[in-house]
Amino acid sequence: LPQTIPHAAALAARRWGDAPALVENGEAWSFNQLWGQCRAAASALLLRGVREGDRVAIWAPNSREWVVAAIGLMICGATLIPLNTRFKGHEAGDILRRTRSRLLFTVDSFLGHDYRALLAGEDLPDLAEIVLLDTGFADFVATGHGADDPAVDAAFDALHPDIVSDMIFTSGTTGLPKGVMMTYGRVIPQIAMWIANTGLARGERYLIVNPFFHSFGFKVGWVACLITGAVMYPMAQFDVGQVIRHIEKDRITFFPGPPTIFQTLLAEREKHPFDSSSLRGGTSGSTSVPAVLIDRIRNELGMKDLTTAYGMSEYTVITSCVPGDPAEIIANTVGCALPGNEVIIAGPEGQELPRGQSGEIRVRGPAMMVGYLDDPVATAEAIDADGWLHTGDVGSMDEAGYIRITGRLKDMYISGGFNVYPAEVESLLSRHPALSMVAVIGVADERLGEVGKAFVVLRPDTEVNEQDIIGWSRDNMANYKVPRSVVFVDDLPRNAAGKVLKHELQG
Ligand code: ATP
Ligand code: MG
Repeated sequence: LPQTIPHAAALAARRWGDAPALVENGEAWSFNQLWGQCRAAASALLLRGVREGDRVAIWAPNSREWVVAAIGLMICGATLIPLNTRFKGHEAGDILRRTRSRLLFTVDSFLGHDYRALLAGEDLPDLAEIVLLDTGFADFVATGHGADDPAVDAAFDALHPDIVSDMIFTSGTTGLPKGVMMTYGRVIPQIAMWIANTGLARGERYLIVNPFFHSFGFKVGWVACLITGAVMYPMAQFDVGQVIRHIEKDRITFFPGPPTIFQTLLAEREKHPFDSSSLRGGTSGSTSVPAVLIDRIRNELGMKDLTTAYGMSEYTVITSCVPGDPAEIIANTVGCALPGNEVIIAGPEGQELPRGQSGEIRVRGPAMMVGYLDDPVATAEAIDADGWLHTGDVGSMDEAGYIRITGRLKDMYISGGFNVYPAEVESLLSRHPALSMVAVIGVADERLGEVGKAFVVLRPDTEVNEQDIIGWSRDNMANYKVPRSVVFVDDLPRNAAGKVLKHELQG
């Protein structure tokens, strides 16, 4: 296995040289070209004095330049700080300040914003330079000594697995995003295990819609392609029509994403059928994946090797299914702990619970984060004295070790004395044939303390009313889980990881 991400890129160039590595706007780059560009970018960064321990940020949609800039800065030993493209100026400014980033790669304008306007007024004393990936990257690279710069070889030779390679910020689903420090040595073997589980292979055409600023698009995305020799197709923004064109024209074989992307694709397919026969596999995760959705992806899109996986910024990938698992297992669980990693279900006192019982999922093993940036208190709360990461997720484990996720400790309400996890109610509700997306929150109730309120998006050409849904719920779930009110909406507010922003739903 390569020791670092730059080693993976170098090895890929040696092994697969002129084979396509990356395709964007119909233009293919070979592994050799990619590695040459990364080296040239590194030369320009080294000239600016970027060295091991420095932080360099990237705030841009998925693109070829994103990958080149990331590998280039890593060759210098610097730490990658990927920023969420949905951030507004003060959020980006805050992270640039906290990480003391000295250089920022961004784009002239994205998602309708101009980086100048966004960053105006932000106090960033460490930020020496801003480089535009879309309009100024070639000029930037040209300021260096090119791909053959001997200083690049010296920097590359000094790389080692214990360098803090990146700091991904958590999605901010339960609070403010936290910067997660990770090293090459902790993450590469874990990605290799995920690759082995999904069967991702050389020459596969991998459409990456998951944003590069999270593990799903970055580590399990383009880094996994470099390790296996799969061809990456980075997508800047999810657009269903464009995804379909890629699938049909580029014969995409591998397509991971959060459930909402598949829901949109399936809804589109009901209106306009398209050819998805090239699709073989992918992984769904990030948030709970309704069992019915898994069946539809496999049957209607023909993704026979679709698997589910569970991971978090703090522990890249924790569990995963394998394509050979029974459909029932893939639809209802996130698989087993990856080899060499321990997972337990813990009770309120931290005791390990027997199989089948529900509690907090805890994980221990080689892929653990180093800690949160500048936050020893939060780090100590997350990783206990015995080395267990408290995931904050609630679930159970069956006799064979398969994990079922039922909710989050922080996303729970109490109805008439019963703990209700909205994720579980959402999963039950999503079996209703007329519903395409659902989100449940707890709202105050005089009699029961709190009760569920469901926000639902209907499937096209269906008609149901609130009473139908409540009546159906009474027949299909325990009484205390039944939502007491239903709101019909056109869409649900989501963050960039595809997770519903519960605080934006009105109580
Ligand atoms: P924050 O920690 O800032 O509140 P976050 O936990 O959403 O945000 P990430 O690290 O990006 O930030 O996401 C990890 C979380 O995503 C997991 O802890 C889990 O709650 C959820 N998750 C990931 N995969 C799955 C899955 N397959 N099923 C259900 N939930 C999942
Ligand atoms: Mg989290």
